[in-house]
Amino acid sequence: MKYVSTRGGGQPKNFDEAILTGLAPDGGLYVPTSIPSFSISDIEAWKKLSYKQLAFEVMQPFIGDCIPEKDLIKLIDTAYSSFNHSATAPLIQTGHNEWVLELFHGPTLAFKDFALQFLGQLLNYVLKRKNKKVVIMGATSGDTGSAAIEGCRDCDNMKMFILHPHQRVSEVQRRQMTTVLSGRVFNIALKGNFDDCQNMVKACFSNQSFLPNKLQLVAVNSINWARIMAQIVYYFWAALHLGVRSNFISFSVPTGNFGDVFAGYIASKMGLPIKQLIVATNSNDILHRCLSDNDHSIRPLKRTLAPSMDIMISSNFERLLFDVHGRDGAYVVKLMEESQKGTLKLADEVRFVIQQLFTTYRCDNHEMLEMIRILNKNNGYLLDPHSAIGLSAARRCRADIETPMVSLATAHPAKFPDAVKQAGFAEAASLPDHLNDLFLRAEHMHILENNQVAVQKFMADRVSDLVEI
Ligand SMILES: *Cc1c(COP(=O)(O)O)cnc(C)c1O
Repeated sequence: MKYVSTRGGGQPKNFDEAILTGLAPDGGLYVPTSIPSFSISDIEAWKKLSYKQLAFEVMQPFIGDCIPEKDLIKLIDTAYSSFNHSATAPLIQTGHNEWVLELFHGPTLAFKDFALQFLGQLLNYVLKRKNKKVVIMGATSGDTGSAAIEGCRDCDNMKMFILHPHQRVSEVQRRQMTTVLSGRVFNIALKGNFDDCQNMVKACFSNQSFLPNKLQLVAVNSINWARIMAQIVYYFWAALHLGVRSNFISFSVPTGNFGDVFAGYIASKMGLPIKQLIVATNSNDILHRCLSDNDHSIRPLKRTLAPSMDIMISSNFERLLFDVHGRDGAYVVKLMEESQKGTLKLADEVRFVIQQLFTTYRCDNHEMLEMIRILNKNNGYLLDPHSAIGLSAARRCRADIETPMVSLATAHPAKFPDAVKQAGFAEAASLPDHLNDLFLRAEHMHILENNQVAVQKFMADRVSDLVEI
């Protein structure tokens, strides 16, 4: 399988080249040249597979002959052995024909482990094979950082720098990053907000000459195709457990960067009979406004109780725009210029096509807290704030009651104790066993000014021993 940029530039790349970069050189995102597709009976034949076996079937066609099958099986096995639930992604029924898909049983308690545990294995494998050393760099508002650190901590051929906004991530999130003991991982607490972190990362990617030894940066956020690919699997998983033959299924997805819900879109293109994909946003509602009112104006970032969805512009939306505009890269260049300015307008027929599958919904803090209370009262089940936004959207927007509705539970409630307390629960949810000494472990981080020269010097000083032999 080859990969091309959403902006039409450059030559097609192999899978391993596409995952070993950040953006394509023309500023676009890599997407596969074609989407593998399966019939209902092909899909139904996967019914008895374990999560790992299913992951192999779903992901292998995107990788092709880039990785031998027996090696891919091993990578998948290692990645998902770190999960703490024998079903990997269990479905819990919460109402009539309504389920939540628990995606928080990985080591860092958020769904990002599904992608990053696997990406870590993949990078380690590909780098060893190429005898290549790289520098991983990423910005995090909380969950990506810890999942990336957990996923890549044992990767020999790299060093990793994760920037988080100083004093603006929750204590659980910070400790999950800063208590990992590894000489290869550096946590930078940047004196600024999340946008400052993201801008710093972008600036470093766009000119990498500050790195010694011709080292290159690798991205671990959801612009990396391997992350999207790994997330497609659990859409199939849920559907197979609820029965796919002559049965549609719908999903509600709490959305920030549009990565997770885009994986659902790809699942649908692969042949999974998805009726409805609900894009659930918090008050940072650009996707909701864009698809419901054709309003893509950029509004200031609001800090909400679902911080992992506090995003002004969703980067993976570009991948959808590319697909619904006939994969016309030159046209996407124009759309993305408008997107940056906030003047993007979609043609009516394009919005019509998107609306055949996608429904959007905005849920504010008040409604989210109410959802946490209602589900606890009626089901004795505690949702985290992001998952509550997904379920609230599912209940308000579902097209019909006959189609099973699966709402993605993207984080464990113990990760967001403040929201749980604001919902009126005296005790926050307790952390699972493997994290119960989190508050006792020593922390390692470096507090840096929001200054490009300082950050680049900090990094350059720490990677000089990364040399290709
Ligand atoms: C990252 C994250 C999201 C948003 O996912 P996207 O792929 O960015 O849309 C939702 N919930 C939680 C808990 C997250 O960590």
